[in-house]
Amino acid sequence: MIPRFDSIQEPTPTQAGLTEAYAAIETALDRGDRPAALADWDGLRRRYETWSALVHLRFAQDTADATARADRDYADALSPEAADLEVALKRRLLSDGDRTGLAALTGEHALRLWDTDVTTFDPAIKPDLEEEARLCARYTELLASAKLTIGGQTVNLAGLGPYAEDPDREIQHEAECVRWGFFAANAGALDDLYDQLVKLRHRMARKLGFETYTPLGYRRLRRVDYGADDVARYREQVARHVVPLVGRLLEARRAANGWDRLRFWDEALVDPAGNPKPIGDHDVLVAQAQAMFDDMDPRLASFYRLMVQGGFMDLKNRPGKAGGGFCTSFPTVGVPFIFANFNGTHHDIGVFTHEMGHAFQNWESRGLPGIDYLWPTMEAAEINSMGLEFLSHPQIGLLVGEDAADRFRRMHLIGALAFLPYGVCVDHFQHEVYANPDASPAERHAMWQRLEAIYMPWSDYGDLDFLTKGGRWQAKPHIYGSPFYYIDYALAQCCAMQFWVKSRRDYASAMEAYVALCARGGSAPFQDLVRSAGLVSPFADGALADVVREAEVVLGV
Ligand SMILES: [Zn+2]
Repeated sequence: MIPRFDSIQEPTPTQAGLTEAYAAIETALDRGDRPAALADWDGLRRRYETWSALVHLRFAQDTADATARADRDYADALSPEAADLEVALKRRLLSDGDRTGLAALTGEHALRLWDTDVTTFDPAIKPDLEEEARLCARYTELLASAKLTIGGQTVNLAGLGPYAEDPDREIQHEAECVRWGFFAANAGALDDLYDQLVKLRHRMARKLGFETYTPLGYRRLRRVDYGADDVARYREQVARHVVPLVGRLLEARRAANGWDRLRFWDEALVDPAGNPKPIGDHDVLVAQAQAMFDDMDPRLASFYRLMVQGGFMDLKNRPGKAGGGFCTSFPTVGVPFIFANFNGTHHDIGVFTHEMGHAFQNWESRGLPGIDYLWPTMEAAEINSMGLEFLSHPQIGLLVGEDAADRFRRMHLIGALAFLPYGVCVDHFQHEVYANPDASPAERHAMWQRLEAIYMPWSDYGDLDFLTKGGRWQAKPHIYGSPFYYIDYALAQCCAMQFWVKSRRDYASAMEAYVALCARGGSAPFQDLVRSAGLVSPFADGALADVVREAEVVLGV
């Protein structure tokens, strides 16, 4: 029987119910029945995660719906209570003494993750966690509330996308004026939300015994095999090998178009002939994606068919819907869900190549023992998604039209490279922010400007005053809601591009290595997963330089 999204139901948990369920698990442990206790606990966590994912998804689908918002607020308030119970049980299991016996049941990596988890929580920070979730939800609502007027139409932020990529430079400029006008009008609220979040996170870190939020942030992301020094060295690699290349690409674009300067609003238009667009709207793309996956791999193809038939996608943009795209999962069901906001640009294609990568991994690894292995840590998860973006290059004509396929591949490769300086800038900024938690909003804007000059020296914002004053980062949800997450995309890009290089030599074996990596899910730390797929860790000397060299040859720059 095909699982259907609209038939997924999960009763709302309560604090009393959770406490009782955890007490029963403790009793099983007291009896010495560890396998039964672990199995019960895994089931409990899966039901809780399924319910939580549903509540957050429904809020994202309609942020203006009062019931969805109340449900999310309830979930956000319950989450620290659930974390309290969960961490207490992890502590007990870890302190039981028989680590080898425990690892035989859970896998050694799960224990390493729990070792990390128990240092990131204490009942003393429960109110802070609840407040953090509340502030993050307010940021999402604020951005989703945007009602913008352009070309006689009222659109939300995602709806500005086609205008920002219009071949007419004046329209691109107008789109950016409208976008940043919205942020300028909400500058006070945006500064205030971030200021509260930074101070709150610093306070949590101090309560847990950390000097600053940074080490806590790394631990919350369950990074067990690298630290801030490794990340800093990777940022330097980007500055050395990618920043000059992107500078050359932008200069070539300026010259090709005969412009005196290349402005910020020109950056989105990568292809002088107009960025290739999807060949059709939602329904056409959903159908064509099936043809694409049929061509790529039978496992991908049958999984995608299951997603479509079960209604596990919500891709159309509409008023009140939260921005962005993501993949979420329901661990009791096994089939994940894809959320996006189609706007008629090439970004729509990313849903089928990026979010499907996440979804496919989640599906392939659903049989691994224990919920801890269902998703890898984020930097590894982004290899699954960004890797599929590159592996779909040979078939991409099915989504953009065969005549535009070459131009799309070039645009995607340039986009992947151009992302890296921005990605590491966002990361470097957060390291500075959390190292200086008492900085004023104005000082944070100055930090951003200083880093922008290093990583994106070409940025020319013209009359967009909000950006000239260092406000660009405020449109990036990760900076508010998922601190230190952003570098994960930049690390994964280096790995995804290695899949691209391999697929150009031998497509079938690259695809096989990709599917095998997906099936390993989160059963190992980042660099182990990378090596297991025959890739080189981005922290290794030369890993980034090698893929950049191949890109330079292909792009002819
Ligand atoms: Zn992703």
